[in-house]
Amino acid sequence: MVGIGDDAAVITPPSPPLNKGGMGGVAPLLITTDSLVEDVHFRRDSPPEALGWKALAVNISDIAAMGGMPKHYLLSLSVPEGISVDYLDRLFAGMTDAARRHGLSLIGGDTTSSPDRIYISVTVIGEASKNILLRKGAKAGDQIFVTGTLGDSALGLRMLEESGVGSWELGVKDLKLKTIINRHLRPVPRVKEGILLANSGTITSMIDISDGLLADLGHICEESKVGATVWADKIPLSKGFKSLSDRFGGIDLALSGGEDYELLFTVNGKEVKNFLSEAKGVKSTHIGEITKGKGVRVVGKDGQLHIPQRSGYEHFKG
Ligand SMILES: [Mg+2]
Repeated sequence: MVGIGDDAAVITPPSPPLNKGGMGGVAPLLITTDSLVEDVHFRRDSPPEALGWKALAVNISDIAAMGGMPKHYLLSLSVPEGISVDYLDRLFAGMTDAARRHGLSLIGGDTTSSPDRIYISVTVIGEASKNILLRKGAKAGDQIFVTGTLGDSALGLRMLEESGVGSWELGVKDLKLKTIINRHLRPVPRVKEGILLANSGTITSMIDISDGLLADLGHICEESKVGATVWADKIPLSKGFKSLSDRFGGIDLALSGGEDYELLFTVNGKEVKNFLSEAKGVKSTHIGEITKGKGVRVVGKDGQLHIPQRSGYEHFKG
């Protein structure tokens, strides 16, 4: 039903006709996959529990971005010589924690040796809700919302790079800083929110924020053939981000930092009131609107165009 180019693919499982014992209307399946490569996405001295958690969580987030329920996962893991059993136990512990928290079962995979680096590839299969939310579907006049707060993960990455990734977990005492770093290492996919949004019937498009707000809003605009205006002063920021982010670009880091794994979605312009009453369980912020035309623009409080300094997500440079 949906192929390459959205957060997950959508397929209809073949179902035997009712008169042959089939169940009739079987829910479509959502399928997504993502890889983490040592020295591209993570370093070996980062905590393996967090790595295991994140490898699964980012895939779960793509199912959440379709409004679906994640169910099963497959794991392919390649490890070089010299990786201890303890390291692998800790990696699995983190992954199993994320799986348990979101009700997924491991149904297969593969393990191989690798010449030098660790490679982790995860595939998640989920079940679609009645409404499947795609990147396309936004129309001029729709209102843009985002869950949670933005920029924490990108700030956490910069903090980690600055202080050395290795001993952060033991070393960091400051609670605000710890929360920020955790948002980078252990993102929480917004599954419950995604399902509530899909069922509300007022959402016209949705994506999860992996590349950064502006880049991912750009994906919605491209697929929906519309433009967007974002209000810089409405971007939701955590207390920790407000107090620690100045050195790293402040609001610009929140606009283009990436790896927030929050849900970015558009609400039918005529149904904003209904949305606000129906999706009460979803903590979200109204940050802009869909316009005619092309491209994403950011305006400041003064109504002036705001040109963000490029601070888009960059992987570790290895
Ligand atoms: Mg995605």
